Amino acid sequence: MDYRLTFQEYNKALKKDRLLGLKCNDCGKITCPPMMVCGECASTNHEVVTLCGKGKIVTFTTCNIAAEGRENENPYTIVMVELDEGPWIMGNLVSMDPKKVDMKVIGKPVTVGHRVYPGDKYSSQPMARPAFCIIE
Ligand SMILES: [Zn+2]
Repeated sequence: MDYRLTFQEYNKALKKDRLLGLKCNDCGKITCPPMMVCGECASTNHEVVTLCGKGKIVTFTTCNIAAEGRENENPYTIVMVELDEGPWIMGNLVSMDPKKVDMKVIGKPVTVGHRVYPGDKYSSQPMARPAFCIIE
């Protein structure tokens, strides 16, 4: 079984601020980040689609203790975002001081960009992560 969209391809596009997902040709559900099978119907009949990169914050957490080797990132806020096309994805909230983030961010509209984080003992190479900015 081949991956329709590899994580490497997804990450390469993300580094250009393009958010790729998979559209299920059997049920229509959009998946992001890429998965082997549709989360709704388990189909492998997908096509790659470019998502609009906009959504709303569903929930968040502010991390004060980063993983080993990433202490310089403390503190940082991770958000769960429901994209306009439906899928929920996680990323960093980069437009707001983590010390000022509170429950009022839930429901706020965001747009996606990216930040590249260096490789560490848990990942072999620099990887892009979704980085969200609140749209006021
Ligand atoms: Zn499906």
